[in-house]
Amino acid sequence: MAYDVIVIGSGPGGYVAAIRAAQLGFKTAIVERESLGGICLNWGCIPTKALLKSAQVFEYISHSQDYGITVGEAKADFEKIIKRSRGVADKMSKGIQFLMKKNKIEVLMGFGKLTGKKEVEVKAADGKTATHQAKHIIVATGGRSRQLPNLPIDGKKIIGYREAMSLPTQPKSMIVVGSGAIGVEFAYFYHSIGTKVTIVEFMPRIVPVEDEDISKELEKSYKKKGITVMTNSSVERVDTSGNGVKAYVKTANGEEVLEADILLSAVGVSTNIENIGLEDLKIATDKGRVTVDKMYKTNVDGVYAIGDIVMGQALAHVAMKEAVICVEAIAHKEGKHHHNPEPLDYGNVPGCTYCVPEIASVGLTEKQAKEAGYEIKVGKFPFSASGKASAAGANEGFVKVIFDAKYGEWLGTHMIGANVTEIIAQTVASRKLETTWQEQLDTIFPHPTMSEAVKDAIEVALGEAIHL
Ligand SMILES: Cc1cc2nc3c(=O)[nH]c(=O)nc-3n(C[C@H](O)[C@H](O)[C@H](O)COP(=O)(O)OP(=O)(O)OC[C@H]3O[C@@H](n4cnc5c(N)ncnc54)[C@H](O)[C@@H]3O)c2cc1C
Repeated sequence: MAYDVIVIGSGPGGYVAAIRAAQLGFKTAIVERESLGGICLNWGCIPTKALLKSAQVFEYISHSQDYGITVGEAKADFEKIIKRSRGVADKMSKGIQFLMKKNKIEVLMGFGKLTGKKEVEVKAADGKTATHQAKHIIVATGGRSRQLPNLPIDGKKIIGYREAMSLPTQPKSMIVVGSGAIGVEFAYFYHSIGTKVTIVEFMPRIVPVEDEDISKELEKSYKKKGITVMTNSSVERVDTSGNGVKAYVKTANGEEVLEADILLSAVGVSTNIENIGLEDLKIATDKGRVTVDKMYKTNVDGVYAIGDIVMGQALAHVAMKEAVICVEAIAHKEGKHHHNPEPLDYGNVPGCTYCVPEIASVGLTEKQAKEAGYEIKVGKFPFSASGKASAAGANEGFVKVIFDAKYGEWLGTHMIGANVTEIIAQTVASRKLETTWQEQLDTIFPHPTMSEAVKDAIEVALGEAIHL
């Protein structure tokens, strides 16, 4: 065998799998058709956060008077904001190039396809093909914008997330279809820099996977900012024959016609599982995802799949964790690694949305906990009562904790407010360690911090609130 491990796709699933494999002594290669780092570094997590930072800086400057600082009129330079975001993405992709070199991982640029159980064909951009053998092949080909039949992405007037972060000029108005993390992040970004934004959501509330209280708070905040939010609404058809886009929206009260320069379709992701040899090898798939066991083995010996193409939350940290588990399980079986990894607990995966106010959550929502038959204790602590939030001028939002009333098990945390994405890890680690509320209250939290609001929320749940 030329290699011990070949990974197809270099997103957070693929590059992490390759590095862990190399660290554990496997001769490793990685195949990439476009840019090292995948969607996450090039067209997802990182460039969007760069855009959101620019929007936030602009908002801060626009409200500088609130902090006692007078500055001249601020102007958002769209071209420069996009350029900065692309620069950050390029730098991160180069970082992955460095890590591949450092770990002596062979980078094979081109389109990878399984041509045998232990064989990958790589077709380079110039059409040249080469075939490589490996004992283990890990498929991590990720996803792309999902297309709805009535919203075909043309890249100009009906766009997906890639175009939304690389437009040549700032649209004056935008319709955002879908209010998951991607939709609400772009809605915040474009609104903040002066685009008139309308969100159209099919479900009765925005960020529909979150706890209902979070959806209500975000909707209140967005409406206050001036973003139009239409829930229980769906775009039935679009007309792009004029200067902009006309969207015919079915609402609870009949049809409404929206007009805007551009429409962003943010209705989720489809998986890249076509034309990569899965059918020929009879690798099982289900509803567009590759079927794998708890260690990411497919039904074909020596072939594994991780990341967005398998069941589970389509998130970068999920892909990275799956990568480590998959490789360590292979290494353990071959006697190369002492640790036999545990399966990932998909019920303890944090979800973060980086709009303003930020959202972070893990575990069961209040509704899910009740539906699961738990008798619960719920505590909610508003940031309006937090000293740190007041000092920062960031009083919006709250922390909500949900505990099982019988045994004190921490069932879930749902937060909305400034920097909450930085404090959710505490709940994740505590839940992993099967903490109880009493152990949390026996823990000391630094003051003043946003994180102490978690302790305050637990006190509220127990009827022992000190700061409310
Ligand atoms: C706008 C946006 C924002 C996001 N923000 C966040 C966030 O803040 N936090 C978070 O956790 N997640 C976020 N995500 C999701 C995150 O990007 C994905 O979950 C993550 O990238 C999945 O990693 P992956 O390794 O499975 O695949 P990907 O990152 O999609 O990488 C797959 C790679 O495989 C390559 N490839 C595909 N087919 C082939 C082939 N046949 N041969 C060779 N190469 C191939 C692709 O070119 C790509 O580079 C965001 C996604 C989007 C779209």
